Amino acid sequence: MALVALPVAAHATAPTFSVDYVVTVRRRDPGHLHVRWLLAGIDEIDAFRLVFRDDRTTRVTGTGTLAWHDHTLLWTPGGPYAHLAYTVAVERRRPPGPHFDSYAGPDWIATRALHLFPEINVSFRAGTVRAKSRARLVFRLPRGWRVATAARRLADDTFAVEEPAKRFDRPRGWFLFGHIARHTRQVAGLPITVAVAPGSGLDARRLLGLYGRTVPLLESVLGPPPPRLLVVSAPDPMWHGGLSGEDSFFVNGHIPLRSPDKTSTYLHELFHAWRPFRPRADGRWISEGLAEYYSLALQHRAGRLSDRSFARGIRLFARYGRWDIDLSRTRQPAALNNSAPLVMYWIDQEIRRVTNGRRSLDDAVRMLVGERGRLSTASFLRVVNRTADRDFTPLFRRHVYRGECPSLSAMRLGN
Ligand SMILES: [Zn+2]
Repeated sequence: MALVALPVAAHATAPTFSVDYVVTVRRRDPGHLHVRWLLAGIDEIDAFRLVFRDDRTTRVTGTGTLAWHDHTLLWTPGGPYAHLAYTVAVERRRPPGPHFDSYAGPDWIATRALHLFPEINVSFRAGTVRAKSRARLVFRLPRGWRVATAARRLADDTFAVEEPAKRFDRPRGWFLFGHIARHTRQVAGLPITVAVAPGSGLDARRLLGLYGRTVPLLESVLGPPPPRLLVVSAPDPMWHGGLSGEDSFFVNGHIPLRSPDKTSTYLHELFHAWRPFRPRADGRWISEGLAEYYSLALQHRAGRLSDRSFARGIRLFARYGRWDIDLSRTRQPAALNNSAPLVMYWIDQEIRRVTNGRRSLDDAVRMLVGERGRLSTASFLRVVNRTADRDFTPLFRRHVYRGECPSLSAMRLGN
């Protein structure tokens, strides 16, 4: 019998091209970062349309041709191997007040990908195979500096940039560089890194202890966690609050694990980091209300907040809330941070009451997460109705659209 040599089957995977994003920090001038993109094998890319947010990016150079229209750069790399280089001024003020959402001190830098990279739009040549990028983020740091990012670490200062839904992977999330401390812990399958800049008052071990108790509880409501979580803690003059990013968030190092009103910025931002739904404009109060309500409720469920303190937290929502306004349209912090979470507590109590304790707000949130649609007041009302098997429309009209404060005595919380 003759043996016939068969050709080895070609792999069905699409060809890849590679991108290295190299970020260089210089000790003499940490306020200006030098960014280089090194691209190889990009035969299938015609051009890039890069949209810069403001005037902090300067000295842009690259192979091929560069054409500017205001803050938009049309870059035609003009060959399979190409590079682009530019300088970014790190500091960016966040009004109102004298605080920053991106800042460089002498020995630390807190910033995020969207400050160092423009919005990237890629046009691929017509009729190309669906090539996918293999991208890395490489940091060149002064001696003694370290880096923390939300990306998967490949080597010391090199990270994988992965954006499964995109053909061209872009860096995302928060970064902290400098003489920083990194604390890591795995909680319920979620690798957590807490990165602390010099001068921050955060006790990272206590924060990891809090997450050890609360992450599993949140997972039971929101489902599987993000692949990784990075918490960036830095002192003034950074923003006095929390700022969420992709798989990461920033909280000012002066903010305690539990705020005087019993809620926790660290749990509020954890909720956002899960990115359970994409809110429409009129879904904002729901995403903020749930994040703030659960930041109180999770501490209570984890046995870290007494019934009395939990009740006090709920009463403070009523006191500091902004009432008699339409929650679905407002942008007022007092309404989003206090009225909205109180309404969430009230919805929880109502669902429990009409189902004789068989169901709760958790069930409505689980259903909402499962829908994967855009979050709006209407979609939220629908899942609340389904969970309670009751029509909440009149109650939403009163407490959401008219913004009437729910009665605390009806919820047995007194005044
Ligand atoms: Zn929030």
